[in-house]
Amino acid sequence: MTLTRSTEASGSSKPRILTGDTPTGRLHLGHYVGSVENRLALQKDYDCYFLIANKHAFTTRADRPDEIRQSVIDIATDYLAAGIDPNIATLFIQSEVPAIDELTFFFAMLVPFNRVMRNPTLKDEIRDKELGDNYSFGFPLYAVGQVADILAFRPVMVPVGEDQLPHLELTREISRRFNQLYCGVDPQTEDRDYVKKGGLFPIIEPKLGRVKRLVGLGAPGANGELLKMSKSLNNAIFLSDDAEAVQKKIMGMYTDPKRLRATDPGETNPDKNPLWALQETFNPDTAWVAEQQEAYRNGKVGDVVIKRKLIEVINTLIDPIRTRRKQFEARPDDVLDVLKQGARRANAVAEETLALAKQKMKQDYSTRTLTIS
Ligand code: ATP
Ligand code: MG
Repeated sequence: MTLTRSTEASGSSKPRILTGDTPTGRLHLGHYVGSVENRLALQKDYDCYFLIANKHAFTTRADRPDEIRQSVIDIATDYLAAGIDPNIATLFIQSEVPAIDELTFFFAMLVPFNRVMRNPTLKDEIRDKELGDNYSFGFPLYAVGQVADILAFRPVMVPVGEDQLPHLELTREISRRFNQLYCGVDPQTEDRDYVKKGGLFPIIEPKLGRVKRLVGLGAPGANGELLKMSKSLNNAIFLSDDAEAVQKKIMGMYTDPKRLRATDPGETNPDKNPLWALQETFNPDTAWVAEQQEAYRNGKVGDVVIKRKLIEVINTLIDPIRTRRKQFEARPDDVLDVLKQGARRANAVAEETLALAKQKMKQDYSTRTLTIS
């Protein structure tokens, strides 16, 4: 088989980006500032691949396939509503791209089991999602699966929230190992030179969003820290929430109970009070935020005033997204079509990567062509 160059497989000469989301709910404000904003900004200048990690949703909800299916459509709809343009960016479902699974198996041999289990993101998820000792074998495997999600596309950059950095570090380690073992790259090589020196996989760079970790609406978790806003933790404002839901959630949200008797301004640390974290993130009127925060610390203004302002600010941000969402909600078949088209484009690249990886591993016994219909 003659392999095409990677730019030919994708039909684009722009550098590639890969990132994704688990379909465990709809997109929320954490995704917006952690990742969606970046994706919107990058989609014109990069060849973007946005993966919906449906297999990873099975790590914690294998008993709820209907919910996962609905969530796949919800997330795709959210992206289109947020302004992702399916004519320039590729939106696709993970399980439609079999090369990812095949790479996962090979990559799983390149990392010790204990190294995977030391991953702090997995540990946090086990704690925050209260999985105890009852997680499936597939749960830690998803960390290696995510390495394959990324490397199947050999991207130059991966836009993510801070919680994903340990996964990206694992990706970098497995990339180096593969390139050293199967492509003969010298271990002393600088990360940026791996491909130049004959490696198949780039040593990828994370790109964090404007806000690395947006906190949720709830009280602090077991470790005393506010939990990140998360689809799975029931502490999120969704991009698809209507104005009434936004109002109800914000009016009922957790604020710092020490606030009223705070003598030390440190006690009203915005890091411990999601009301201020959200104001600082979303209110463009920074002078108002600074002034009101001072008054709040001194007990001169209460939660309600700040909450009302936050409701206004959030509704202004998500109103246009809501309007566009309504249009896509009415056309679920079109959303599915976008995902099918995306699968075709994604497979073109991932199949090429797998074929090249098999060549490097000397396991290239035959060729194949995938058909998506
Ligand atoms: P789950 O609770 O099911 O893990 P999640 O809300 O963490 O869901 P993911 O699908 O795991 O969402 O994450 C998708 C992307 O959004 C990742 O890049 C992640 O880092 C980013 N992200 C998620 N939540 C936040 C947040 N609160 N702040 C900043 N970025 C976030
Ligand atoms: Mg997550």
